[in-house]
Amino acid sequence: MHTLFRSLPSIDKLLNSPQGVGFLEKFGRTAVTAELRLLLEQARNQIQQQQRLPDYLQNSEQIWSLVEQKLTQNQQVAMKRVFNLTGTVLHTNLGRGLWSAQAVKAATTAMRNNVALEFDIAQGKRSHRDLEISQLLQQLTGAESACIVNNNAAAVLLMLATFAQGKEVIISRGELVEIGGAFRIPDIMAQAGCKLVEVGTTNRTHLRDYRNAITENTAFLMKVHSSNFHIQGFTASVSEEELVALGKEFNLPVITDLGSGSLVDLQALGLPAEPMVQQKVAAGVDLVSFSGDKLLGGPQAGVIVGKKALIDQLQQHPLKRVLRCDKVILSGLEATLRHYLFPERLCEDLPTLHLLTQPLETLQIKAEQLKNALCKRLDSRYFLQIEPSLAQIGSGALPSETLDSFAVTISAPNQTDLLALDTQFKALASPIIGRIAQQKIWLDLRSVAEFDALLTEVETL
Ligand SMILES: *Cc1c(COP(=O)(O)O)cnc(C)c1O
Repeated sequence: MHTLFRSLPSIDKLLNSPQGVGFLEKFGRTAVTAELRLLLEQARNQIQQQQRLPDYLQNSEQIWSLVEQKLTQNQQVAMKRVFNLTGTVLHTNLGRGLWSAQAVKAATTAMRNNVALEFDIAQGKRSHRDLEISQLLQQLTGAESACIVNNNAAAVLLMLATFAQGKEVIISRGELVEIGGAFRIPDIMAQAGCKLVEVGTTNRTHLRDYRNAITENTAFLMKVHSSNFHIQGFTASVSEEELVALGKEFNLPVITDLGSGSLVDLQALGLPAEPMVQQKVAAGVDLVSFSGDKLLGGPQAGVIVGKKALIDQLQQHPLKRVLRCDKVILSGLEATLRHYLFPERLCEDLPTLHLLTQPLETLQIKAEQLKNALCKRLDSRYFLQIEPSLAQIGSGALPSETLDSFAVTISAPNQTDLLALDTQFKALASPIIGRIAQQKIWLDLRSVAEFDALLTEVETL
């Protein structure tokens, strides 16, 4: 055993070999030494247990090849590109939507350069980081001003903390939603230190319910878009217009959390309707909040638009400093919003809207291509078909409002073979993520963006 231990090369000897010198140059002493140490320690353990020198230590070529593998792995980002064939276009677990080419360009410029983030170039003096976007949003939504934070959850928290700390917020029982990922309106209220006053019932809330709940301690009236669920049957809710009128009577602001929200009429594009931000502004709502990376099609951000006096207060709250966005996100968001100045080009330019509005014929052609590519790689155990499928917008948009789509479906003689293929898809350099239902793998074409890259990836199966 001792001879075996002694036959292990020393770290110094390895580092001073010609390969060692090359590795030091490429990866630096810290990383190379650490990997060698780990490898030799493993070897010692193995000698102890098996009384023989492990195969990989037979020659230095093998040692260095192992070290290179490990070090190269350490350089690679674990958050890999994946192909989204789940049929859910805005899949939160897969990073929601993709940025437009212009947004990517603006963001990379901001990454690589200094930019006029809080600087008025014409005047040569300090400015505000939300100003440019605020002006764009005025133009697009009719709101007086805007405030940008990290996400819509942060937007809701900031609005509550600024105006309702230690006070009461009145909200309908039908709107006490959980969005997923532990975002629950009552919890956010508690975090912001305000008291939730629930009015009405799950299915019906009337204007008088709000009126009866108003006290001298009421901070504002709140509406939350119930995004991800829908109550049917004997229902009643109060419109923003009615709530605004009530608010005026008692001098109380009305705040709406729209969730996804949209700046365009989705129904006109053949998609399920979503409330539009400009409608809420026109209805007189004092503050409207929505996400940057849901239907808007931009980076993760929370956008609040509304009355200038209130936005100014949000901007001055210490939490705004905690929740503010950086130059990269703000550049991406600004570029995204600029697309809305050219409405006819939106479905072309914004990837999310592009995917959502792809005609069925296009999806069918893509399904044919994907099926052919897969047929070449999969053995005869697997049976491939093209089938109509139901996709969805995702990210809190109504799951019951499905979008027609096409999928390549794959079935196998047994569950084991099917799961083995799913594992193979996930083991690709850029994994293919579908969904398993009815004992088939469904690869839905509605949600996949980089289609040519997908076909190339399939060739590596
Ligand atoms: C999605 C959603 C949120 C959270 O938005 P994020 O941008 O994901 O933080 C809040 N409220 C509603 C109604 C939503 O749909």
